[in-house]
Amino acid sequence: MMRRVFRRHIRKSLAQEVPPILQEANFAFSKGEYGRAAELFEQIARAADGRGGPRAPLFHLQAGRARVLAGQAALGIPSLERGLELLAQRGQFPRLRRFGTRTVNELTEHGLKSEADKIAAWLESVLPKVPSIEATSKGPALPRHCPSCGAPLRPDEVEWLDEVTAECGYCGSPVKDEH
Ligand SMILES: [Zn+2]
Repeated sequence: MMRRVFRRHIRKSLAQEVPPILQEANFAFSKGEYGRAAELFEQIARAADGRGGPRAPLFHLQAGRARVLAGQAALGIPSLERGLELLAQRGQFPRLRRFGTRTVNELTEHGLKSEADKIAAWLESVLPKVPSIEATSKGPALPRHCPSCGAPLRPDEVEWLDEVTAECGYCGSPVKDEH
């Protein structure tokens, strides 16, 4: 089984304790097994949400995105909405703006215009009018995937701990800029 092999391989090189289910979810997503990835992210998100975990919004968003990519948008919308709602509740407006904009764009790309419009209107109503000034990243060279959990690393999804160190949004491992 590919999955087994992959997991063992990853675990050997692990510096941090990362839940195997998260590695499995990221692996399924990267292989294009979106239905499977969605099921796993939904489980992870539910657990994280239940304990008020800081990464719950990202997990919900990834679950929703996987559903959309699997052609199951109706199942994904509640996850997308929950993820964005949590960011709003927690007052994380710069992240809400980033993830919200991206969600709207992705839904539009998949022809889900009315769902996209609904979320865009909601964003408009909750986001502060004046965009908060964000440190725009200068295109740092992160590895493509988190060495610990296998999540794709996007400069707009990680939290920067300092100039050269980002924190993986999925497992919390520090990742060094490769410059
Ligand atoms: Zn990670």
